[in-house]
Amino acid sequence: MASIENKNAYTPILRQYLEQKERAEGALLLFRLGDFYEAFFEDAQILAQELEIALTSRADSAHPSGRVPMAGIPCRAADSYIPKLLAAGLKVAVSEQIGEALGGKGPMQREIAKILTPGTIPDGELLRSDAANYLLACTPAASSGFWGVAYVEVSTGELRFGELSEDELLQRVACLKPSEILAHSQPVSSKLAPLDDQLVLPVALSTNSKICLTRRREGSFSASAARERLAELFGQFALEGLVRDPSESALEALGAVLSYLAITSPGSLRSLRQLELIQASASFLSLDEQTLRNLEIFESLSLREKRGSLYHLFEAELSTKVGSRLLKEWLAAPLLSLPAIENRLNRVQALKENPKAKNKLKETLRGFSDLERLTVKLLGERLNPRELGWLRDSLRRLPALAQILETIGFEGELACSEELDRNIQTCWLALQESLPVVSSAGGIFQAGYNAELDDFRELIAGNEAWLQALESKEREKPGLKTLKVVASSNAGFYLELTKTASKSAPPEYQIKQNLTNQDRYTIPELSAREQGFLQAQNNQNALEESLFIALRASLIPFAEELRTIAGIVAGWDCLQAFASLAEAGDYTRPSLSATSQSICLTEARHPCLEALLPPGVFVPNDLSLVGGLEGSEASLILLTGPNMAGKSTYMKQAAIIALLAQCGSFVPAKRAELGILDRIFTRIGASDDPSSGRSTFMVEMTETAFLLNNLTERSLVLLDEVGRGTSTFDGVALAWSVAEYLLKQGVKTIFATHYHELSGLADLYPKAANYQLLAEEKDGDLVFLHKVASGAAEKSYGIEVARLAGLPRQVLERAKGLLASLNERGVKQINRSSLKQTAGDLQLALEFI
Ligand code: ATP
Repeated sequence: MASIENKNAYTPILRQYLEQKERAEGALLLFRLGDFYEAFFEDAQILAQELEIALTSRADSAHPSGRVPMAGIPCRAADSYIPKLLAAGLKVAVSEQIGEALGGKGPMQREIAKILTPGTIPDGELLRSDAANYLLACTPAASSGFWGVAYVEVSTGELRFGELSEDELLQRVACLKPSEILAHSQPVSSKLAPLDDQLVLPVALSTNSKICLTRRREGSFSASAARERLAELFGQFALEGLVRDPSESALEALGAVLSYLAITSPGSLRSLRQLELIQASASFLSLDEQTLRNLEIFESLSLREKRGSLYHLFEAELSTKVGSRLLKEWLAAPLLSLPAIENRLNRVQALKENPKAKNKLKETLRGFSDLERLTVKLLGERLNPRELGWLRDSLRRLPALAQILETIGFEGELACSEELDRNIQTCWLALQESLPVVSSAGGIFQAGYNAELDDFRELIAGNEAWLQALESKEREKPGLKTLKVVASSNAGFYLELTKTASKSAPPEYQIKQNLTNQDRYTIPELSAREQGFLQAQNNQNALEESLFIALRASLIPFAEELRTIAGIVAGWDCLQAFASLAEAGDYTRPSLSATSQSICLTEARHPCLEALLPPGVFVPNDLSLVGGLEGSEASLILLTGPNMAGKSTYMKQAAIIALLAQCGSFVPAKRAELGILDRIFTRIGASDDPSSGRSTFMVEMTETAFLLNNLTERSLVLLDEVGRGTSTFDGVALAWSVAEYLLKQGVKTIFATHYHELSGLADLYPKAANYQLLAEEKDGDLVFLHKVASGAAEKSYGIEVARLAGLPRQVLERAKGLLASLNERGVKQINRSSLKQTAGDLQLALEFI
């Protein structure tokens, strides 16, 4: 909001608004006025615009126009309006009335009760159940190119910190997809982009429009504040117990996260899990953002949504929300440790071999609620009766789950402690089957749980009979045969008489209300009963609420155990999804080796494309790549073939199979033997990046530079065209030298290209091999066989594919004519004069260059 200079000239209410606005951390301020949350000044305009509600105004002579803009929403509708504001990337501060006016004068006392921001939503409808919602802070470290990083997931309590290189930070952001990033504004090095309100961030982060960037004072990135808060939250030596020599910048980032939470969502601090270190990417197969995108792990390239992605394929088999979130983690960070991979594979195999147990497991898991998020609510004392019921219903299923696991040879996996078991039993016996959302409205406990509660209930239940007895007694009085005794929740208890019967009302009847056709009376006996009844009802509800709070509190000590159970449930859900797909898609158990450098696949398929095509249409292909400099088996495959023949598919399926295998899944192939990979690099397709000022060719070259500078001998590299974005000669020269560099490093590479000239590499390097995707011309039509065969393709069939794409006939004819003429003349190099001669028309020919 533009600064307002003459604050003191405004009316006391607006002065209070302006004062609180200064403490609202730049959030839109909603100010409680009676039954409404109101916003004023610029905030009112934003509120009216975002929610499409009326913008009004309030007279105030201090404002230059004499009226201050104002807009408001009813408090009871706030839960549906506020998520819309957050979804629009806004932060919202809510100021509540906390007491009468000081000294009885001026406005009521108000205080900012909470600040809601995209990265700190604890629960509610804006929180996606299948995706985590991270808040991340980063700050440059002392050594250049490194960053202190900390992140928190408020709804699950996950809290991590560490120091990462800039690449690792970007990679982490690609996996976590945080909703909000905290950064400060102190410029540090020229590599960083002081963009967007001067936030200091790596360029790629500051230009990612999906992330809400929040600028924080540099002072809030405080290592000492982080130490203090950690001691408060987890005990004095929590930090020392975790890491011997924590990096200062990591602690600074942690300080920023914790101080931001303390302002925006103080309640969530209590529900944080024990602090963990960010696991070095050296523990996982490293996949950068570009590779995740190119391989369509979480989003399809064409639709830019989940449908069509690898995640979507497996997610369809999952039974729980915790499983959905864990699957995302697994796919973004496949394992490197062979025993850990084999461990998962053994479980998948056990499930695959026992489909009955697997189906039972899937079914039993379906009854599990989101244990992870329920536990956080439990810790934050926000778990309502219905949710406690969900927790109970989930935990009730543990014995059945444990039994299923036992039948497949994994006994003891899910044993919960005796104490927790006893508490679950207590909940089971105490709670009603179906439970209310609100804890103060009664209806939570079973009869017999608490004697006092039973007494209240008896009194309440006996009320109906008492009222009926009174009605019969009063009806015996002369002229009152039609009298009714009514107990209404709005009008209270009363005796109702028609206008005629009213004439016979005895003198002790006191009139309560005269209506058109009836009169309502009361008598001391009925008033006393009404009071007693209301009292009992209030007492009963208050007692039930306090019993509920106590029961809920009795589960808090089991929070860590509940989290562990949630983790085991999520893990088995992912494993059963792997087994389900393995069964339905006829996948094989991959054979992995920590020492081998090869990828050997027989009849491999692309899992997502295969699932989209009718059964039997997808054409499987073999692949053999052997990294290193020894031997004559290819480490680099040059892949040629017509456009649309299936080159990208063939390359991507190799990477996806390796990735799936390292996640512990079976893979779509008849046989798969794989050495463990440490990184997958991809450079596929052409796209520009105007926001960072990079042209298509520049993007292509920075991506190529990135992979050439970072690859290791255990990496897999997929290159789909290099050097297309520049002139033919420059392009071929670059493509050739890139391929040579990869061959000299012995890196496993598949290089798809339309530069058929590159096939000559195989004559010079024994570790380079030519493969092609076959196509046939039949009756003038091009038929794609999608089959890979050795040798280099002769033609690209670009014009035939252009015809399939619907280019105008005269353009196609002209192109065909030019091509035929070039071939006839035996032109080997296309340049201005060869085209000029061919076309006989310089102007026209130039259009085709
Ligand atoms: P371009 O050179 O134009 O980029 P490409 O050779 O990389 O094309 P892809 O994108 O891999 O071709 O495949 C094009 C289409 O061919 C796919 O969308 C799919 O419909 C089909 N296809 C690819 N591979 C196979 C296969 N093995 N079996 C069946 N259909 C396939």
